[in-house]
Amino acid sequence: MSKNCNMIKDLLPLYADDVCSEESRKAVEEHIKECSDCKNELEKLRKNVSVSPQKDAEVLKRIKSRLRIEKLIVGIISVLAICGALFLGLIYLINTDKSMDMEKYKIIDNVSVTEHDGALWLNVKGAASSFVSLSPTISDTDGNHMGYDKGFDREKKNGFGVTLKQRKIDSFEFYPRASSKCFEQKLFDIGEKEDIVKLFYYDDVNNKEYVLWERDSND
Ligand SMILES: [Zn+2]
Repeated sequence: MSKNCNMIKDLLPLYADDVCSEESRKAVEEHIKECSDCKNELEKLRKNVSVSPQKDAEVLKRIKSRLRIEKLIVGIISVLAICGALFLGLIYLINTDKSMDMEKYKIIDNVSVTEHDGALWLNVKGAASSFVSLSPTISDTDGNHMGYDKGFDREKKNGFGVTLKQRKIDSFEFYPRASSKCFEQKLFDIGEKEDIVKLFYYDDVNNKEYVLWERDSND
């Protein structure tokens, strides 16, 4: 390896990229005619140079496919999130009750209270759908609704309220023709709850109530 070789090897990368001066180019070309070592070095460099655009394309392709995969993952996560939200919404609709509107469901015509066998019974005309539940609520004698708070002071309250509830997702109708068949539910034994003097239906949609039963003053 001549002293010249070192100088030429410094120039080879510039020569391979075709960015060296005319003088350097000539010097390199003259040298490699006689020096197989430097010629080999140049060929190696040229291979790398010629390979590089292909490499770039490969890198770009890899980046693109990675981006595509990331997009796909984000898409899948979004879809799952939306499905989850819809599912929770449905669960909410199924599990949330609403009071039955007194006017819409003609509660006065369809719901009554009867007294027999020493107890009070709630009667609902027609086939009450299984989605309807009764929520006893507590109110005072004047009919003021006391809410569903279980921590109420029993000593001071002497009313009893009931409200028919249905799931938000369901629609419910009373069947007028089935009026002979009543859905009956025992509320309580009259003797057991002497403090209760009034029983009424409470509609918390319209904040209205109507009296279903009042204790006789003779009782
Ligand atoms: Zn050389």
